[in-house]
Amino acid sequence: MLIKTILNRIEKFKSFVYGECSFEQIGNGLSLIVDVVARKNAKGLCPECHKSSPSYDKQPLRLYQYVPLWNIPVYFAYAPRRITCKEHGIRVELLPWSHGKEQITKSYQLFLAQWAKRLSWSETAVIFGTSWETVYRSIKSVVDYGLANRNWEGVEQIGVDEISVFKGHRYLTCVYQIYKGMRRLLWCGKDRKAKTLLRFFRDFGKYRCDKLQFVCSDMWRPYLKVIKKKCVNALNILDRFHIAKKFNEAVDKVRRDEVKELKDAGNDNVLEKAKYILLKRPENLSNKQSGRLEELVKINLSSIKAYLLKEDFQAFWSMRYKSWAGKFLEDWADMAMESELKPMQKVAKMLRSHNVLV
Ligand SMILES: [Zn+2]
Repeated sequence: MLIKTILNRIEKFKSFVYGECSFEQIGNGLSLIVDVVARKNAKGLCPECHKSSPSYDKQPLRLYQYVPLWNIPVYFAYAPRRITCKEHGIRVELLPWSHGKEQITKSYQLFLAQWAKRLSWSETAVIFGTSWETVYRSIKSVVDYGLANRNWEGVEQIGVDEISVFKGHRYLTCVYQIYKGMRRLLWCGKDRKAKTLLRFFRDFGKYRCDKLQFVCSDMWRPYLKVIKKKCVNALNILDRFHIAKKFNEAVDKVRRDEVKELKDAGNDNVLEKAKYILLKRPENLSNKQSGRLEELVKINLSSIKAYLLKEDFQAFWSMRYKSWAGKFLEDWADMAMESELKPMQKVAKMLRSHNVLV
């Protein structure tokens, strides 16, 4: 198969065709040079207004680095035309494979930027035989493109997360759009301070903030304060993982207290080995464990009350509307407060104090 055939399959340009391919010595080794020529009768485009305009002259042949094939460096060779645009005068034509004066193609920039997500930037440079500077410029170009073309319309659910970087010494705040079980990164900022998240909301704009329905976050206090202030119409849902953890801690606290009480009273200790039965989701229990759970439910124990409260709460995650979710939380918290189980009341208070309930 000809290299031209491969290129036409993966990267075809409307007004340009691939010509000859040849080996040439560039730097220390051989490179593949692919000639690119403008299609006959296809005029060049103005870089400003993208209108096709008559040619003025041709610039010298230039090389644009493309994604390596079999680890052999590949370059497109093309002599850009200068065109005369009625509105913008004499300009170098717009090229579909590279930005402005960039000597590296958009495809190669994207390729390097994608590898730089998995490898360090210097590793990426070494493996693909390029410089750190090129990797850096590629990432910057991809990020700039993403920022210039980002679309924040219709975002109604967001999640705020912190990730630790530099071996846990520093933090980044990341904001995601959560939509139909998918997460899309919208924004990233240095640190995990109130100021960091405020910066996001400033970029996001008041108009969009007012339209937010749900905001998911963990219990990092500076975030909660900012969310409460900025997302006036949204329900702040604490991160599901963190909530599940709080619930499990509460259920286990109730069980441990009860084990102690039963022991002190010299009663049979039915709960002693029931820790995991109460912490696991019912669908994850073995047959034997399910049987034991059924037995336990028959006995009127505080641990079972706590367990049932925890399981009741699960319905919250399938609520589709803010108003339902708000009402559900309100009812659930009332129930927990009535249970007289201190650890469960604590969970209810935690959810309330963090303004989870609107
Ligand atoms: Zn123009």
